[in-house]
Amino acid sequence: MSVSSLAAASGEREAPFYRSVGNECGLFEQAFRQRLPLLLKGPTGCGKTRFVHHMAARLGKPLYTVACHDDLTAADLTGRYLLQGGETRWVDGPLTRAVREGGICYLDEVVEARKDVSVVLHPLTDDRRLLPLERTGELLEAPDDFMLVVSYNPGYQHILKSLKPSTRQRFVAMAFDFPPPGVERDIIARESGLAAERCAALVNLAASLRAMKGQDLEEGVSTRLLVYCATLIQGGMPILEAARATLVEPLSDDVDVQDGLLEAIRATF
Ligand code: ADP
Repeated sequence: MSVSSLAAASGEREAPFYRSVGNECGLFEQAFRQRLPLLLKGPTGCGKTRFVHHMAARLGKPLYTVACHDDLTAADLTGRYLLQGGETRWVDGPLTRAVREGGICYLDEVVEARKDVSVVLHPLTDDRRLLPLERTGELLEAPDDFMLVVSYNPGYQHILKSLKPSTRQRFVAMAFDFPPPGVERDIIARESGLAAERCAALVNLAASLRAMKGQDLEEGVSTRLLVYCATLIQGGMPILEAARATLVEPLSDDVDVQDGLLEAIRATF
């Protein structure tokens, strides 16, 4: 059954808007059907999270999203004993819930998490698809409709924080990038309500700002920030003011770099 017919059959919630760039929806669906884990790589704000939300809704599966950070441990994913009303009770973490009940578990920025997380992910990402819960003595086998999706941003990862080959080679991987100009224009127009030709001007501007990446900037301006900018303009804010708040201040604190960005913005508008 295709994804769309599945969604129709299960009468699930409407999928959030996602404009595909290639065959990413087909690849996601295949991975889901074949019970393969998926790794999404790409810069921040280029549509990875939206894509996962979209696919989970299309497949009619619950989504458990975890934004990983450097204090996140395996127990945050699997669960822990908590004191509740004078009793100690085991409470499943999001990963365990997804394994028990079926669904998609999305670990955003997985490289940020503590090292013990990979110990939990390894048996889940080979053909055993097992989640051992040492604390409860359980060994859970993932159902067919469990899927693990992780993302990371290769751009700004510290070398010590990139994914180890032994981990990354357990995933089907997909590279994301900022969408091609026409697609990005449509996304921004759809998300912000701003007229398409005005969004096209923002996309042109983004190309010159992204060209500054590496020299002065760690990351190029994201689709997300362009949507913010268009949203403020659509709300009535003057263009330069909106651009400063969304395309300059979030990108850099360095006054010289900011001046460079402002110059490119003034040259466009
Ligand atoms: P990431 O997870 O890669 O950091 P998000 O998925 O949160 O980025 O994307 C940020 C925003 O950009 C979304 O909220 C959405 O408004 C917009 N966006 C980016 N790519 C797309 C796309 N292909 N279709 C629809 N919206 C998109």
